[in-house]
Amino acid sequence: MRHFSNEEWMSYINDKLSKTTCEELEDHLFSCDQCLEVYIKMIDRQAEELPVIDYSSFTDEIIAELPQKKMRKKILYQRTLFHYAVAAVITLTLMTTGFFQSIMGVVTTVEVSSTSKPQQSVSSSLMKKSLALFEIIDIKQKEGQ
Ligand SMILES: [Zn+2]
Repeated sequence: MRHFSNEEWMSYINDKLSKTTCEELEDHLFSCDQCLEVYIKMIDRQAEELPVIDYSSFTDEIIAELPQKKMRKKILYQRTLFHYAVAAVITLTLMTTGFFQSIMGVVTTVEVSSTSKPQQSVSSSLMKKSLALFEIIDIKQKEGQ
């Protein structure tokens, strides 16, 4: 069984070989650890030589091609998700610091007002609770100053 050279593996990675040669190399790769090692080394080298992609301009180009309406919807959606995440983090932080205990009464009030309107969706009541939390935090911060 003949081993393949670095150059041959490089040609394989760069897709410069004929289909039959490719198959030959692939078959060998499955049965030879030594060549597999060389092959991986070649991939690493090839990756280093690749030009660095400017992801920021790449994203801008994609955004420019998107229909404006769709884009706005997406931004709104992301913003909502972001706020839920912020609310979740704040809730967790408050729970662990014990601060949550002191504002529990306010949250319960919001809960009661939400349950009195059964047609309200879970997400909107959750949003109300989150907003109530934000307001309390805002007040607490102002008091602290
Ligand atoms: Zn080999």
